[in-house]
Amino acid sequence: MPAADVDRASLVVAVDGPSGSGKSTVSREVARELGLRYLDTGAIYRALTWWVLHDGIDPLDPASESAVVDRLGSFELGISTDPSDQWVRVGDVDVTAAIRGSDVTTAVSAVSAIPQVRGQLLTLQRRLIGAGGIVVEGRDIGVTVCPAAPVKIFLTASAVERAGRRAREFDTTDERDVSAVQADLARRDRLDASRSASPLAEAADAVELDTTKLDIAQVVAAALTLVRERTGVIPADRVGGRIGEPR
Ligand code: C5P
Repeated sequence: MPAADVDRASLVVAVDGPSGSGKSTVSREVARELGLRYLDTGAIYRALTWWVLHDGIDPLDPASESAVVDRLGSFELGISTDPSDQWVRVGDVDVTAAIRGSDVTTAVSAVSAIPQVRGQLLTLQRRLIGAGGIVVEGRDIGVTVCPAAPVKIFLTASAVERAGRRAREFDTTDERDVSAVQADLARRDRLDASRSASPLAEAADAVELDTTKLDIAQVVAAALTLVRERTGVIPADRVGGRIGEPR
């Protein structure tokens, strides 16, 4: 039954799942199709991690937790919510590419596990989400950041498929590289799912989609169908048309 009071301007679509489940690509595409903004919350945790590393702090050293927390008060984030033009800035430094580096990827789960970090970044995320009109992607969106979102999607895929996707992003099919990526994803999943503050979790009212055998278009079509069923909102340029039909 569509929720009668949800329109495009107030709609929040929450997309959660582990690394390599297809969240980013699918969320951006769903936002474009629906004419909504898009927030990559992982990029926020990555930007903070980049900044503390840049300041010479090693987040993997448990003794540096208070130094990370100290930096929170002066963390100046700029982030685009345009699904077709993504950029991230810390102060006046463009960190869009740097936050994808392996140093940040290795350290980010340690930073995101600190409760004060999560508290502060939660406020920031809620400010960016505002009144809605947005697809929000992360690990704890449906449970913690936007518990009232009318559409919650939890994407999964097999560990082998997720590692293969990440390895392809790095342009490698070398088996040793794929198993190294798989080991790193498993390490991050374990840390993200086992931390005490707001772990990776599936909301009770989320719809789980296993993307292992699906291509992006199929996952996007399933997500758009769910949005239409739950809210009545349909793609911006298909008013009167049917979802899933070629344009
Ligand atoms: O999605 P992405 O891989 O860029 O996220 C990087 C990291 O940020 C995750 O491994 C997780 O530690 C953290 N994260 C989080 N909560 C979110 C989004 C990301 O803890 N909502």
